[in-house]
Amino acid sequence: MMSKDIINTADKVIAATYTRPPIVIIKGKGCILWDTEGRTYTDFVSGIAVCNLGHAHPRVSKVISAQADTLFHVSNLYYTVPQTELASWLVEHSFADRVFFCNSGAEANEAAIKIARKYFSEKGENGRCRIIAMEKSFHGRTMATLSATGQDKIKKGFDPILEGFDFVPFNDADALRRKIGDSTCAVLLEPIQGEGGVRFPDPEYLRTVREICDETGTLLIFDEIQTGIGRTGKLFGYEHFRIEPDIMTLAKALGNGLPIGAMLTREHIAQAFGPGAHATTFGGTPIITAGALEVLKVLTEENIVEHCQEMGEYFKEKLLWLKSRHDIVEDVRGIGLLLGMKLKTNGASFVTACMKKGFLINCIQEDILRFIPPLIIEKEEIDSLVVCLDEIL
Ligand SMILES: *Cc1c(COP(=O)(O)O)cnc(C)c1O
Repeated sequence: MMSKDIINTADKVIAATYTRPPIVIIKGKGCILWDTEGRTYTDFVSGIAVCNLGHAHPRVSKVISAQADTLFHVSNLYYTVPQTELASWLVEHSFADRVFFCNSGAEANEAAIKIARKYFSEKGENGRCRIIAMEKSFHGRTMATLSATGQDKIKKGFDPILEGFDFVPFNDADALRRKIGDSTCAVLLEPIQGEGGVRFPDPEYLRTVREICDETGTLLIFDEIQTGIGRTGKLFGYEHFRIEPDIMTLAKALGNGLPIGAMLTREHIAQAFGPGAHATTFGGTPIITAGALEVLKVLTEENIVEHCQEMGEYFKEKLLWLKSRHDIVEDVRGIGLLLGMKLKTNGASFVTACMKKGFLINCIQEDILRFIPPLIIEKEEIDSLVVCLDEIL
């Protein structure tokens, strides 16, 4: 089929939940994508902060195909090697003692919400079930996770929204202190907000949130679905703040494009998830966990997190240079390779203009251009995008 036919068919048979540009992507290698017309694009989206190692990474592809020849799936009724090895890796490299695997970010947050409530219910504190989340947060599109999301546009039309979620402004510890009460079981937040506009909080803020949770015995849940796995220049975003959460969720880059989510927590909390308490058919299946483990090995063995930090600093400087040259740029924000440029106008036309010049970027909250390239991006590729932005701004 020609790309025109693909687009026409897709527009008929696929749920129209996304507005897409008229290109059909057929191949990727590293930071480059090809469409059906033979055009190439440098990818500053990474499938929404997913393909941290770029596309078609040879080591990951090799492991997946070897695992495909050996064992795809047996369910969680049995022990498997890749799942055990991946959980061990995550436990070894984080604050956590145990991991629950699932298939997406929303499911990881569902598990976090459930375990926080179950933890207090097991202790006999049944009324302690409310969760405080942040305004402008994003936690997913399932009923519980959209109920936990602090953006009205995501909830609109889906009433009744689930009970039990309260909201306070992000980066406002006093507001949290006022809201937290006897019925609060957990505080849920992204240490650096992603979809809400790439917002990095004051370092003091998260330390104060940790203190408030400690004083009140409330669980602290970090949604690191976007900030985890090296994206911010540290393996996990919380490492920037010298504190640790009680529960953390991962997904996006964990599988570099393989569908996987994970909920990580400490032993005493993990006890609340005994046999039968929570379950999933696919979660942590061998083919996916084998791939994800290789992703993490490449990330650490090839010092990609350090590279991300270096490229992130370089890129941010360039964006600040663009701000100094173009009045239309209001603000440059973010850390590592989770960067945003807030414009004084709608950003959609800039996304299209970049695409025409061979760069994929995306726009969030209508006026923030977001740059989330593969972490293996090099200075030359950043320079080319900056030249393109300089022309179109
Ligand atoms: C993407 C994202 C999610 C949702 O993940 P899905 O895999 O789309 O369900 C949740 N939280 C954050 C912070 C995200 O960036």
